[in-house]
Amino acid sequence: MNCRRAQEWMEAYIMGDLAPTLADQLEAHLKQCDACQRHYEEQKRLIALIRRVFAVQRRFL
Ligand SMILES: [Zn+2]
Repeated sequence: MNCRRAQEWMEAYIMGDLAPTLADQLEAHLKQCDACQRHYEEQKRLIALIRRVFAVQRRFL
């Protein structure tokens, strides 16, 4: 897997939408690629933040 592909799949992976076979490949890539590992941590933080915002909104609607 190359880095571009890995980063395309990351969002789906974090959301739990990535097919298990692809998730395995992505995890393998993350273990050996520092750049994607960093990108993944960033994406994860961002998505956690977005989820918190939506959770807060739901509480007030
Ligand atoms: Zn990479």
